[in-house]
Amino acid sequence: MGDPSCIFCRIAAGDIPAAKVLDTAEATAFLDIGPLAPGHTLLIPRQHYESILDVSPAILAAVAAELPRLARAIINATGAEGLNVLLNTGASAGQVVPHLHWHLIPRRAGDHLGFRWNAGRYAEGESDAVRSAIVAALNA
Ligand code: AMP
Ligand code: ZN
Repeated sequence: MGDPSCIFCRIAAGDIPAAKVLDTAEATAFLDIGPLAPGHTLLIPRQHYESILDVSPAILAAVAAELPRLARAIINATGAEGLNVLLNTGASAGQVVPHLHWHLIPRRAGDHLGFRWNAGRYAEGESDAVRSAIVAALNA
């Protein structure tokens, strides 16, 4: 099981070293090698799925079930005040490693990491069209 060309599959299998913090039947979590803050952790399914677009819902649920206790442990261990939990999907969204992973990034006021979405607004009627397109795609 696992893709030998995938670095996160190899970490999950224990073939290459990582600073693991959690191992379950379905999930592994380890420190990000390039942390945005100390304690920046990645949570991954042990099985190879490229992204949220191809993961099995049952596997996703089993892995996501680890998020609350992992988030609490990171906050307790680092003294962070909060976390950003991010799941990048596709290169345009910043995904570099093509094995599904959540980032848990400890945050505190004044940490200067920054975080800003440049929110837009819909033109007249645009949100209706977008909503209809998504509903149609869900029901296709
Ligand atoms: P993303 O841009 O969402 O694909 O994030 C990939 C993350 O994986 C980056 O934050 C990297 O620092 C991290 N990363 C890459 N290789 C390793 C590794 N061998 N061990 C731990 N983290 C890694
Ligand atoms: Zn993989």
